[in-house]
Amino acid sequence: ERLLATGAPPLTEFQLLVDGVDLAQYHPDLAMLNIRRRVLDPILLDNAAAAGADVALRTRVVGLLHDERRVTGVRIEDPEGRHSEIRARVVIGADGRNSTIGRLVGARRYNVTANERAGAVGYYEGVEPHGVFHLYILGSTYFIGSSCDNGLFMASAYYNKADHRRFREPNGFEERLATCPPFASLLKGATMTGPPVFASRWQGFFREAAGPGWALVGDAGHFKDPAPGQGIADAVRQAERLAESVCYGIDTHSLGDQLARWWRWRDHDAAEMYWWAREYGRAGLQSPVIVEMFRRLAANPRTLRAAHAVAFHETRPFRIFSPVRASAAAARLLARGGTPRGKVVADLVTLSTRDFQRRWRTHRPIYEEGPGRDAQEEPEQVLQRGVES
Ligand SMILES: Cc1cc2nc3c(=O)[nH]c(=O)nc-3n(C[C@H](O)[C@H](O)[C@H](O)COP(=O)(O)OP(=O)(O)OC[C@H]3O[C@@H](n4cnc5c(N)ncnc54)[C@H](O)[C@@H]3O)c2cc1C
Repeated sequence: ERLLATGAPPLTEFQLLVDGVDLAQYHPDLAMLNIRRRVLDPILLDNAAAAGADVALRTRVVGLLHDERRVTGVRIEDPEGRHSEIRARVVIGADGRNSTIGRLVGARRYNVTANERAGAVGYYEGVEPHGVFHLYILGSTYFIGSSCDNGLFMASAYYNKADHRRFREPNGFEERLATCPPFASLLKGATMTGPPVFASRWQGFFREAAGPGWALVGDAGHFKDPAPGQGIADAVRQAERLAESVCYGIDTHSLGDQLARWWRWRDHDAAEMYWWAREYGRAGLQSPVIVEMFRRLAANPRTLRAAHAVAFHETRPFRIFSPVRASAAAARLLARGGTPRGKVVADLVTLSTRDFQRRWRTHRPIYEEGPGRDAQEEPEQVLQRGVES
């Protein structure tokens, strides 16, 4: 109720266009809400407090407490710089990509991937709120938008990192939005409420997510390319499951086992979405094979719905975007003609190789040396540590 009271309309109609292939669909049972963090976070905090949590704002974890076997609590610093301690049976690090808890326990990152795209977002007044999620892939740029809270419209672009400078030029963002016809007409007469916000550095990763007396949840333990917009929902999904594991572990005196099981579940649950987000976030034009896959998916409302349902964890991404579908798409392209044969074959080989690599790395993760930090903080150092190129 409080989420709806922000004025964010449920987004039930999806306007999706991928290089001219129309993937639009209406499904009221798969609704999304777009709420800015400054509005969402206080609601989450209030809910936590109402559920019995003690909330300490502007207070940060600066150290851990240990006994000889496990983590037993945290040392915190309040806004006045005073230190104190909190003892706990389990410490959950939900402290984001550059997790302090992760660093303090020495959790290593694995299967790290570098971002190939950058993003910009702006909020507009003057667009009539409506329940449509817009995604248009034109050339190498993704244009994404929807109404959000308080009558605003969010417009964003997700583009090759090489284009970042052009987007950052004065009015560069607005000029690029205007090259997307649906956005040009949506934003006619609308006013941006402030300068656009840009993001160009992040890495995808998994981080060791549990140990004696500790666990890492949300971005602290795992970050994926933001292209499919799954981060918040996944953090909540993991937290719900972790809460069950912790309660059960305490009740049955098997906390260590339950945390380890939860970590295995987290990796299994997140793996496909992680690698799919990585594919979705690659720079450049869409491969003709992928576009042909979309064309076939769009031809049948049932398969189209299954494709949309990927974003809601109802369908596993690689059940839809499977190697079999890719091979069939390549065969159709070759039979139809019009696309250079060499290009089709090369794309199919690339897609198959990546599919093999993601399966292999899911079962045989590549660990980074030492507890890695995000590229935002240590760009050169991180890049030297063998991030996937
Ligand atoms: C460019 C970009 C675009 C994105 N777009 C989307 C999107 O469209 N949809 C989506 O769902 N997700 C998106 N995400 C991902 C999403 O933001 C994250 O997945 C989500 O915020 C994870 O929530 P979290 O609570 O784990 O971490 P965070 O939101 O990072 O929260 C961590 C919290 O921990 C606090 N903290 C940090 N250190 C300490 C400390 N030492 N002591 C105490 N507290 C501490 C921080 O202040 C913060 O409040 C995007 C991410 C990026 C980078």
